[in-house]
Amino acid sequence: MSKPEKLIESGIRLDGRRPDELRPIKIEIGVLNRADGSCYFEFGGNKVIAAVYGPREVHPRHQQKSNSAVVRYRYNMASFSVEDRKRPGPDRRSIEVSKVSREALEPVIFQEYFPRSAIDIFVEVLQADAGTRTAGINAASIALADAGIPMKSLISACAVGKIDDTLVLDLNKDEDNYGQADMPIAMTPDGRITLIQMDGNLKRDEFKEALEMAKTGCMAIHEMQKAALMDKYSAQIEGENNE
Ligand code: UDP
Repeated sequence: MSKPEKLIESGIRLDGRRPDELRPIKIEIGVLNRADGSCYFEFGGNKVIAAVYGPREVHPRHQQKSNSAVVRYRYNMASFSVEDRKRPGPDRRSIEVSKVSREALEPVIFQEYFPRSAIDIFVEVLQADAGTRTAGINAASIALADAGIPMKSLISACAVGKIDDTLVLDLNKDEDNYGQADMPIAMTPDGRITLIQMDGNLKRDEFKEALEMAKTGCMAIHEMQKAALMDKYSAQIEGENNE
């Protein structure tokens, strides 16, 4: 899409959302048989799958840590996930996204419970529409729980930014392309930030307001993550009780 004249008019964005509205979210848990935990996560036009393996043996062995598990996170964008075909394989961006996403999750994982082992997280982006790193983190957090990895809490993530001088939650591709700022954030349910990045500029008071907006967004996502996990596991427990 070429640059639209306005990205927001009378308080309504081009996709019909209010400034503080998230895109629709769909969560499916346990979608992959071979993974220890998995999650399919739709976040508006983003479609991602997270797969968790482990704790398991570390290969190559030299990556082993004697007093804790190593967490490895690979974010990968399918070549068909974006408008202009993406060249397959890792690039600077995917290496950066993998690193910051791993760092967003590590603080809640009890790595010290699993010395000399690896917890591997794979995130595959099947369809992208801005916000894939936040979608991946949300999916990975659920997949970790599905794999039974002990965690202090879930992690929830969404972006906040600025378009046409208005702060908005969860930017889509056009808003990301033609907006003034984009700030992905991840946090624990009690508001401890584990990821914050920013493209563009925000004034100091806008930054404060944006943080509050992101917090409200993350809390809403946390409720959905929790509900999806409760749904899957309460149904399973009920089934076991009826056996
Ligand atoms: N994108 C693309 N080709 C690429 C990388 C990104 O078309 O090689 C698009 C994709 O829709 C992505 C968006 O640009 O979601 C924003 O990318 P960014 O690097 O800001 O990361 P994201 O918002 O996805 O976490």
